[in-house]
Amino acid sequence: MRTTLIAGNWKMHLLSEEARQLVRGILAGLARVPSERELLLIPPYVWLMPVAAQLRETSRVKLGGQDVHWEGEGAFTSAISASMLRDAGCEYVLVGHSERRHVFGDDARTLARKLRAALAGGLQAIYCVGEQLAQREAQETEAVLDRQLQEVLGGLGTEEMQRLTLAYEPVWAIGTGRTATPEIAQQAHAHLRRRLAEEFGEAVASQVRILYGGSVKPDNAAELLAQTDIDGALVGGASLAAESFLGIAMAGSGVS
Ligand code: PEP
Repeated sequence: MRTTLIAGNWKMHLLSEEARQLVRGILAGLARVPSERELLLIPPYVWLMPVAAQLRETSRVKLGGQDVHWEGEGAFTSAISASMLRDAGCEYVLVGHSERRHVFGDDARTLARKLRAALAGGLQAIYCVGEQLAQREAQETEAVLDRQLQEVLGGLGTEEMQRLTLAYEPVWAIGTGRTATPEIAQQAHAHLRRRLAEEFGEAVASQVRILYGGSVKPDNAAELLAQTDIDGALVGGASLAAESFLGIAMAGSGVS
């Protein structure tokens, strides 16, 4: 049984007081979110520790980092290690977000090293995959997803796979207001799960959560979350306001 995870990626947004107010708003509305839904906040690094302090009053909202370096420590200006993330209160970390791939140039080798460091460091990793618009139009979506899985997940063991979550984020849907239809998203998720089954076996594939990301909002979340292979959402823009994040967290659960 896969629990639904609703993750908010704040990217490079919010000053300290805004971050504090947002967490306060989420905590104030938490009782309305069904208990079987897990929430995750992924703030900029500088707000990890203050957010962790605010989250001490609940175990229902987890904390995650937006990226991780593959080394444990050293001369890597601006980078952050898995043990630092853990020390700051993180249980999760994103690896391979499309902005890391396309803005910062993280390639497959880099992402494979980051993923291994995250898992070896005891974190749950959310590995993001997704095709660009031209690739979808050229009907290359499945090939792109296969490559992104193979290049980075190859050789992982069953124990490591238990701490892996995938996020399918079509690049054309991130921050554009253009969401994949529930059918398009489900098709991609089902494809990813099939590939996981081929590579790691049915038992592993049926346990790995696959989140959808790309312009998820309170009014489209219910239909997306209702799909068989969609196990949660990775939310950017709509995670920056408590009401919209809570709205997504409650979507389709019968409460509003
Ligand atoms: C994201 O940051 O992963 C994302 C999906 O952003 P948005 O919800 O704004 O499209």
